[in-house]
Amino acid sequence: DSRFVIIGGGLAGAKAAETLRAEGFDGPITLLAAEQERPYERPPLSKGYLQGSAELAEVYVHEDGWYRAHDVDLRLGVAAGRIVRGERVVELATGERLPYRRLLIATGSTPRPLPVDGADLDGVHYLRTLADSQALRAAFGHGGDVVIIGAGWIGLETAAAARKAGCRVVVVEPEPTPLHRTLGRQIGEVFADLHRRNGVEFRFGASVTRLTGAGGHVRAVELSGGESLPADDVLAGIGAAPNVELARDAGLEVNSGILVDEAMRSSDPDIFAAGDVAEAMHPLLGRRIRVEHWANALNQGPAAARAMMGEQVSYDLVPYFYTDQYELGMEFSGDIEGHDQVVIRGADLEFIAFWLREGRAIAGMNVNVWDVVDDIQALIRSGRRVDPAELADPDTPF
Ligand code: FAD
Repeated sequence: DSRFVIIGGGLAGAKAAETLRAEGFDGPITLLAAEQERPYERPPLSKGYLQGSAELAEVYVHEDGWYRAHDVDLRLGVAAGRIVRGERVVELATGERLPYRRLLIATGSTPRPLPVDGADLDGVHYLRTLADSQALRAAFGHGGDVVIIGAGWIGLETAAAARKAGCRVVVVEPEPTPLHRTLGRQIGEVFADLHRRNGVEFRFGASVTRLTGAGGHVRAVELSGGESLPADDVLAGIGAAPNVELARDAGLEVNSGILVDEAMRSSDPDIFAAGDVAEAMHPLLGRRIRVEHWANALNQGPAAARAMMGEQVSYDLVPYFYTDQYELGMEFSGDIEGHDQVVIRGADLEFIAFWLREGRAIAGMNVNVWDVVDDIQALIRSGRRVDPAELADPDTPF
């Protein structure tokens, strides 16, 4: 059978299908999508769409008729249940057996469940799917007490949306600042100040011990220090776990994600992985990384597609991420792991932060400063030594 099968109708999977057709693959393509929606992009679900400023039509990866027009057999609401490598077959949850020539696993990730009593009460939300975003939007419309557990990207963006809707918002976070692991303490404070100015309260250094409710609906969030926060709605934003079960059960090499080389190829040469689920060898960093970001899914899907067609592929883009919260827009490039110095160029809410390791830039974040991402990424790629004083000076080019 010459069929290419893609498991996962998210951004990585949809972009892989697009690339296969754009690059001239004319064999059959099946795209298995567990959700009932055709592939869509998730970033608006915690930003414009959640705030009511973006339309539903804007979130989809392709127009409604695209899949049929390009002869892509998109199966909505159909999950892959098992990969039988010995027979090159994907078994669907319905029992149907689908033979493949090459297979792409792009199954994304799932929010980590809140590990406390009361997490199953009504009014406790997660944010991954369009339906989740719609439920939150409706809940925020009541303008009540919202408790957000976790001050990561999802938690902070949702806090901004809840404030905009007129809710009272408290964010609970065990670390001393928001985004502590991603950005470190100093830049984490910038985000804390931004949210405080916009009326968000924080409880840092606190963890949730349980949720209590009445009539099956959440009413309060109890914290380690003994405090009880009133809550009409709770969002748990405590991270996501990659959907690696199919790969693991099929005996592929899996660590945190599915282990793939720089061409997205797994330990089985006919099976590839891309997006949130892939832990890929990164030639620039010299180690394997797993990136849970939009730009990674957008570019790795196509890279995998080209490799599936037999092209030489080496995926080495600098990891990239963006966010919008209130009046702050920012882009982040690189990875701060191992940094020993932070250099700030600019001030207040208009600056570029650089993270250095042994005098070399390994990450950069531009906040309300635009058209600099290419320069920042070029600096990271170059691996050259920088003078921190010059880097901090907005009048000296970098
Ligand atoms: P997904 O988008 O998760 O798609 C995977 C799909 O596969 C899902 O639809 C799933 O149902 C399906 N699937 C799973 N198992 C099976 C199976 N067995 N059979 C069939 N289908 C299956 N990143 C940024 O860089 N910037 C942002 O501002 C940003 N905002 C975000 C906001 C939200 C609310 C969320 C949830 C994420 C955000 N991200 C952001 C992260 C970004 O959306 C993800 O990195 C991206 O969606 C990953 O794409 P993917 O295709 O790998 O996986």
